[in-house]
Amino acid sequence: MTLLEKIYLPAVLNGLMITLKHFFRKKATIRYPEVKRPFAPVYRGMHVLKRDENGAERCTACGLCAVACPAEAITMISAERKPGEEKLYREEKYASVYEINMLRCIFCGDCEEACPKEAIFLTNRLVPSEYKRKTLVFGKDLLVEPVEKEKRIDVTKRQTRKVLEFKKHKELQHNKLAVGSKQ
Ligand code: SF4
Ligand code: SF4
Repeated sequence: MTLLEKIYLPAVLNGLMITLKHFFRKKATIRYPEVKRPFAPVYRGMHVLKRDENGAERCTACGLCAVACPAEAITMISAERKPGEEKLYREEKYASVYEINMLRCIFCGDCEEACPKEAIFLTNRLVPSEYKRKTLVFGKDLLVEPVEKEKRIDVTKRQTRKVLEFKKHKELQHNKLAVGSKQ
């Protein structure tokens, strides 16, 4: 080692220079929770179970989301739609119980990808923190979006180009109700 190296002066000065450089830079930290960073529109947060344009629940309890879920976070019980319930449920089969265990969920979005009915989407809403584990099993009361059109959850930004392209193919539009079907 040279004499300068032995007294560590260049290294100390170099360190001070780096500190000074960062001192005048724009701060990366924010004063959370007073200041919050905006989330990306495609942030994968709390799920929503969507309704169709008429307000009926889109989910047909096919179970594909539960099968696709790597964390086994989704459980459901299916039921058959009764006459007169056409306005409530879009298909003849619906989920009478639909639950997501938010403690298990890793917010991967696989359930959204797997759903053939565009019924489940992740949103940019955060799952609120809780003290009790069982309150983090979210049921339909928390997952299904409100009927009122102005309160619906907008998921248009989550629909990828691939999904939108897919919808253009009339012959593949399994999301549209068949002509003449009861509603
Ligand atoms: S986001 Fe992933 S882990 Fe969470 S429920 Fe959906 S598939 Fe399961
Ligand atoms: S959310 Fe979609 S994939 Fe899951 S059960 Fe309902 S229709 Fe099937």
